[in-house]
Amino acid sequence: MNKVPPEVMKRAKKLREELNYHSYRYYVLNDPIITDQEYDEMLKELMMLERKYPELITPDSPTQRVGEKPAEGFKEVRHFTRLYSLDNTYSEEEVLEFHNRVKRLLGVDSLEYVCELKIDGLSIALRYESGTLVLAATRGDGVVGEDVTANVRTIKSIPLKLRKPLDIEIRGEVFLPKSEFKAINEERIEEGLPLFANPRNAAAGTLRQLDPHEVARRNLDAFFYQIVDPRRYNLETQWEVLSFMQEIGLKTEPHAKRVKDTSGIIDYWKHWQEEKHSLNYAVDGTVIKVNLIHQQEELGYTAKSPRWAIAFKFPAEQIRTKLIQVSFQVGRTGVITPVAELEPVSLSGTVVKRATLHNFDYIREKDIRVGDQVILEKAGEIIPQIIKTLPELRTGVEKVIKPPERCPVCQGTVGKEKEGEVALRCLNPACPAKLERRLRLFVSRDAMDIRGLGEKLVKRLLTANLVKNFSDLYKLTPFELAQLGTGIGDKTIANLLKEIDKSKDKPLHKLLVGLGIPGVGKKLALDLAMHFENLENLEKAEIEDLLKIQGVGIELAESIYNFFHNKEILEELNELKKFVNTKEPRKKIKGILEGKKIVVTGVLKNYTRKEIHDLIIALGGSVTTSVSSRTDLVIVGENPGSKLEKAKKSGVKTVTEDEFLDMIEGEDSNDLSR
Ligand code: NAD
Repeated sequence: MNKVPPEVMKRAKKLREELNYHSYRYYVLNDPIITDQEYDEMLKELMMLERKYPELITPDSPTQRVGEKPAEGFKEVRHFTRLYSLDNTYSEEEVLEFHNRVKRLLGVDSLEYVCELKIDGLSIALRYESGTLVLAATRGDGVVGEDVTANVRTIKSIPLKLRKPLDIEIRGEVFLPKSEFKAINEERIEEGLPLFANPRNAAAGTLRQLDPHEVARRNLDAFFYQIVDPRRYNLETQWEVLSFMQEIGLKTEPHAKRVKDTSGIIDYWKHWQEEKHSLNYAVDGTVIKVNLIHQQEELGYTAKSPRWAIAFKFPAEQIRTKLIQVSFQVGRTGVITPVAELEPVSLSGTVVKRATLHNFDYIREKDIRVGDQVILEKAGEIIPQIIKTLPELRTGVEKVIKPPERCPVCQGTVGKEKEGEVALRCLNPACPAKLERRLRLFVSRDAMDIRGLGEKLVKRLLTANLVKNFSDLYKLTPFELAQLGTGIGDKTIANLLKEIDKSKDKPLHKLLVGLGIPGVGKKLALDLAMHFENLENLEKAEIEDLLKIQGVGIELAESIYNFFHNKEILEELNELKKFVNTKEPRKKIKGILEGKKIVVTGVLKNYTRKEIHDLIIALGGSVTTSVSSRTDLVIVGENPGSKLEKAKKSGVKTVTEDEFLDMIEGEDSNDLSR
């Protein structure tokens, strides 16, 4: 045996300590501070040292273990069979080495693989007994995980009952759709909370919330990719496993592919590296699995991962640029967010000129300075972030970034609202920046939908002091608008006033979105409107009443209650009531679409595609894009596509938009039973 040189011993110890620290930040705090690729490079270095000097291996070495111990607050669950991690690589040569190793171990010349997309979420193990979901657990350290059953029950795409009464254990990935990740982070900026670094950490942070109500609000989703002991169900290949899961009602990622040997693997990886942006979920690579189950069994496992699979990851798309300047944005609730103005660069398909710097703690921790050369990466392919600066390239002219002493917009005092809060806020309640953001939300499409009142016009109305509150919009006269100056002619004024007038009839849920109640997004606004029916009822609601709404936990209930007990807000609402509708039109029946799979085709009169999808989901249904024998209903608008013909052929029920509205508003509620 080689004697371990002291410098190698020292390096291995350092790597172990660093990796353990970053693992803790990643898995327990959901707050990594280095990139996955940096982490993987350190891990690889440690593996190489341990391979050369096996006596360096300790049982707690990060090369020997999976994940982390379960977090406090959850019941621990011992898995029936262990959950493993995956070996990973970023290079074609290593995939070839993997292929040759597997061929050698099995003594075969050729192999069939299943290539799957590697979903950037967190692993979940589900146990069904007689087809009923009885347990959902996180991976934890692979042996012991956390019982998250109550939270998983809120995920609509996970069936509580399978289509067959099986005893079965399933593994898959829970994830946050990109759109949801973006919305959560935007909400967190407004509320002054630290941002989630990537969709995986956001999904993990969500699933490990102690309050299932909060989890339900976040629209988690899931894909499944493994059955424990597949031969028990007469499944001989991974390919059969995937189709069997679909058959019993579990969602699988739709782009898996069977390939022979390595050229197919590499083509698949290249294709999805280009195309990954088109998906509404983040994927960080592909997973290559030996297709035949008996070959998988023969290959078995190392301490950490299966020998029959490898994650072939996509290289992080990073680019270097210069931080030219820092500007400050003031949000609806006064949070001041520092924003990096960058030398424009092209990254993951778009030109990036700005990147959020989150807050001043983040700037300090990363020692980011104006004038620095910085490395940019898009978190979850969405939000450009500064991963690190390159201090070695500093010339001495770079400037430390200081928090503003006064609000950059109104010069008001700044400070922290609560002890321990990271965000800095403008404390002036009349700050025009806050008002501008609030107004922009109020007139936006999801709210009062006042077309033609864009960012520029809102700014001009504020500068001219014509609008100080939402209700002032409804008092605007053609004469006042004409004073705004160039570019605003009679036609624009007439159109704008018409749009403002039209907004008076919007249903209550749109008004609620527009009011910007902290924590109340589109879905919750609709739930609140459907439950309370009018604004007066909502204003009078006690905390206990609010807690009855699905998705409302105590924190949110208090926040809504406080909103409607704020003197200034109530004064403004009383003024608004003189102009706008405050009722939700006919009551929609909650849960009426529970478990129904619905397809929409053609153009609708009353709803955009997004709005009808949100409505279906709010009423308990799910939306699918293509018609199959499992579709329960097709809503047909004008100029329907081939989906209508397909529905007719397969005998799936179809309804017009009006018939659908009658159905959900209780006029014809029996109509959904087929
Ligand atoms: P992993 O995420 O690299 O791969 C294994 C996991 O992939 C499985 O557990 C499963 O949950 C998931 N997966 C998604 N789609 C799958 C599919 N189709 N089939 C099978 N599995 C699929 O491994 P890990 O152990 O969860 O995490 C290790 C990775 O986490 C490292 O590679 C590193 O990139 C990252 N990490 C980063 C930091 C950091 O500080 N940045 C710290 C620790 C770990």
